[in-house]
Amino acid sequence: LGRLYGPVGTLLNLQVEVATALGVFQRIFEYEDMEPEVANRPGAQKLPPARGKVTFQHVSYAYNKEKNALHDISFTALPGEVVAIVGPSGAGKSTLIGMLARLYDPTEGAVTVDGQDIKEVTLSSLRDQIAFVTQESFLFHASVRDNLRFARLDATDEEIESACRQAYIHEAIAAMPEGYGTMVGERGHRLSGGERQRLAIARAILKNPRILVLDEATSHLDSESESHVQAALDELMRGRTTLVIAHRLSTILTADRIIVLEAGRVAESGRHAELLQHDGLYARLYRTQFEKVMA
Ligand code: ADP
Ligand code: MG
Repeated sequence: LGRLYGPVGTLLNLQVEVATALGVFQRIFEYEDMEPEVANRPGAQKLPPARGKVTFQHVSYAYNKEKNALHDISFTALPGEVVAIVGPSGAGKSTLIGMLARLYDPTEGAVTVDGQDIKEVTLSSLRDQIAFVTQESFLFHASVRDNLRFARLDATDEEIESACRQAYIHEAIAAMPEGYGTMVGERGHRLSGGERQRLAIARAILKNPRILVLDEATSHLDSESESHVQAALDELMRGRTTLVIAHRLSTILTADRIIVLEAGRVAESGRHAELLQHDGLYARLYRTQFEKVMA
C-alpha cells in the first residue's frame, strides 16, 4: 500500500488515503485479496469540481489473461442522470462500477468525467467527488458521530444529525445506548444490515458529491428497513449522476438508461419499456426478479 501515499497536503487528502488503506473502496468487492493496482500518474492534476457527466468509452478490463471481465463497454450518463446496471451474477457489474473510482484502470478504452480521462487525475480529487453506498459500508471502531464525520471532517453536529434524518437513521441512533456517542464497529454496538446501509447513505449525504455509485443489494433487510432504505436512497439520488447496480423495481422503472450486462458485454441498453418490448435478456431477468414483487 505504500505507493498510495502521495504528499499529504490537506486533511481531506489524508482522509482519502486512510480510507483507501483501510479498504473502504475495496469492500464493495467480494474478493478479500484484492489490492489496489492504481496510483497517481506523475504530474497528475486535480479533477476540477465535477458537473457530473460520466462516460465509458470502449472500456475493457481483464483481471487476468484468461478472460476479460469487461468487453468494450460504452455509455454516457449526463449530469443528474441515473444509469442502472443489471445482469446475472458474475456479469461484471461490480467491476464496472469499480472502474469509476479507479479501483482498476481499463485495459483498453477510457472512463471520463466531464470529458477528462480519470486516469490522468489524482485519485483523491476523483474519489472526493464520488460517494459509494453499499451494504458492506466500512465502520471504524469509533462513535457513530465519528464514523459519520469521516465523510466530511468539518461537518458540525447539526449537519450530521440532519444528514441522519434525511437518511432515516436518526431515530435508530437516538435509541442507541449513548446516541451519537455509541461506539460501533469491531466489538462495538452491533448494527443491522439496514442500519449500516443507512449510515452509508448519511455519509454520502454529508459528503454531497455530484456522482454517486450505489449497490442496492438489499438481501439482508427486513421490510421496514427496506422501505426506509428505499426512501433514503431516493432522497440521495435526486439531482446527482448515479451509477447503480439496481435491485429495486422503482430504480429500474425510473432509470434514464438501463445497461444489461452479460458475461462482461453490454447485451442490451435502453429504458425499461423499450427493453421489455425487445423481449431479450432484460425481459427474462425482469420476469424472474420483479414480476412476483408486482403481483
Ligand atoms: P457481478 O458483480 O456482476 O457479479 P463481478 O464484476 O464481481 O460480477 O465479476 C465479473 C467477473 O470477474 C467474474 O467472472 C468474476 O469471477 C471475475 N472477478 C471479479 N473480481 C475478480 C478478481 N479480483 N480477480 C479475478 N477475477 C475476478
Ligand atoms: Mg457484484
